[in-house]
Amino acid sequence: MAFESLSEKLQNVFKNLRSKGRLTEADVKIALKEVKLALLEADVSFKVVKQFIKNVQERAIGQDVMNGLNPGQMVIKIVNEELVNLMGSETTEIALKPGNEITVIMMAGLQGAGKTTTTAKIAAKLKSKGRKPLLAACDVYRPAAIRQLEINGEKVGVEVFSMGDKQNPVDIAKAAIEHARNNGYNVVILDTAGRLHVDESMMEELENIKAAVDVYQTILVVDAMTGQDAVNVADTFNQKVGIDGVILTKLDGDTRGGAALSIKATCGKPILYVGMGEKLSDLEQFYPDRMASRILG
Ligand code: GDP
Repeated sequence: MAFESLSEKLQNVFKNLRSKGRLTEADVKIALKEVKLALLEADVSFKVVKQFIKNVQERAIGQDVMNGLNPGQMVIKIVNEELVNLMGSETTEIALKPGNEITVIMMAGLQGAGKTTTTAKIAAKLKSKGRKPLLAACDVYRPAAIRQLEINGEKVGVEVFSMGDKQNPVDIAKAAIEHARNNGYNVVILDTAGRLHVDESMMEELENIKAAVDVYQTILVVDAMTGQDAVNVADTFNQKVGIDGVILTKLDGDTRGGAALSIKATCGKPILYVGMGEKLSDLEQFYPDRMASRILG
């Protein structure tokens, strides 16, 4: 489970703080130094940690907190609030067009991040909310990807539009939207091709799709297990293609969890959902406050 080690370390720091009746400035500084180390070990980006500690310190070292009734508890409360802020405070939904207007969602991500699985998970979520989603197989580089999407689509009871692997992804996207229009679908989710690493041709392909069809939401899927790489990938995709939100997968795995804390602060885009397993129902909405509570234990 993610954050296990971070939680344990923070709980130790907090236990110390609580055990003191009064707090000196030095007490707070020592505690925050330990918080800083714990966050760095959890693979939170250095820049993010630095700003975080600065924010907490500014609020914690002051007469109000230190002369208050329960200074240790106050510092813990500030850490909690700043963790929530770091993750974006509020829950962000995937934006959808009203009524029966067709919303096109483009899914992007590196190979192995969990894009194809997550695409089907999202389709299932939207279907359960009464939407009529269609999946479009635009990953023409890995023939197995098309088959995988078809299998997943079948599992969640959502049609998969495919034209094989000989067509251009832009043409597939256009044809899928046309198919949606003619068959009463109101969401089209494009499963695009990933690559092993961020590269120009992948970015170009996504840009081409964006230029040719009215993509309403671009969602990037990143793997929490890759830590700071996930954060860098999100930053790069956002700068090159522009993204609206991130889905962080494999948070059920043995990850240190730092990506969950760094993505919003680094690229400015919110985490929408987190993947909590391989099953197509293992997708959870991302609540910054609940995640902070999970981290603080
Ligand atoms: P793609 O190459 O990005 O399309 O990745 P896939 O959707 O094929 O997923 C790669 C692997 O990650 C598969 O074995 C998935 O079952 C697995 N996977 C995807 N999301 C999650 C998740 O949230 N948790 C876990 N544990 N595994 C996941």
